[in-house]
Amino acid sequence: ATVEPIAMLVREVAGPRAAVAVLVPPGASPHTFEPKPSDVAKLAGAALVVEAGAGLDGWLRALLAATSPAPARLTLVDVAGVDPLPAAAHADGDGGGRHGRVDPHVWLDPIRVRDALVPALVAQLAALDPAQRAAYEAAGRDFQERLGALDAELRAALAGRGRRFVAFHAAWRYFAQRYGLEEVGVVEEAPGEEPTPRELAALVGRARAAGVPAILVEPQLSPRVARAIAAEFGATTVLVDPNGDPSDPARDGYAELLRWNAAAFARALGSAP
Ligand SMILES: [Zn+2]
Repeated sequence: ATVEPIAMLVREVAGPRAAVAVLVPPGASPHTFEPKPSDVAKLAGAALVVEAGAGLDGWLRALLAATSPAPARLTLVDVAGVDPLPAAAHADGDGGGRHGRVDPHVWLDPIRVRDALVPALVAQLAALDPAQRAAYEAAGRDFQERLGALDAELRAALAGRGRRFVAFHAAWRYFAQRYGLEEVGVVEEAPGEEPTPRELAALVGRARAAGVPAILVEPQLSPRVARAIAAEFGATTVLVDPNGDPSDPARDGYAELLRWNAAAFARALGSAP
């Protein structure tokens, strides 16, 4: 898998039947990741590589060009039934910058995961390993049931809170659409490109006008900018994590990661007006 949260999904369906490696290391952002020659070794011998697509992990193309034989490739935004969102929802956006025209953060909606991504992973793994088809199908069904319960749990966690948020980068549109939240703005329109002090001040002004009580920051992107935001905005920043962290048991699995983020959003959103 290109990123940790995709690896989490693959592990759920593959179980002990496959070894899952991740290309982007913990704490790094896929948007700013630059693969090293040694990353080619991680792909060597892989039967399947799973990527988000839509520019999130566009660097995979060069790695695959250096890998022979090429593994099968599953691109999540291209999966049937995903119904991808446009990358740029902002009137002032320029078409999405590095994110491309489609929003790649599809794993942050557990219902899209349940209804589109899990069936695609089951089909792909079963095609590569037909002797184990029944096991992949059973693991997929079990995961789908848990995702339905997780969705209800997240909805409850976010009930009675405010609806508007300011994200660090535009990672949360699938999550927001699912749970009726509204992205007022983002700090980094192109992830990894820091806003100017003027852009930052304008964003903080917009957040205040919209009554957004906290700005979301992320572990993978510039702590310097996060500190600048905290200075502009008072101390009210809340850490969210679209990618997860295998070294933290609170967000080392898919359900854990989504729960952890819903709790962070609930804090950041404040009470319903
Ligand atoms: Zn992102």
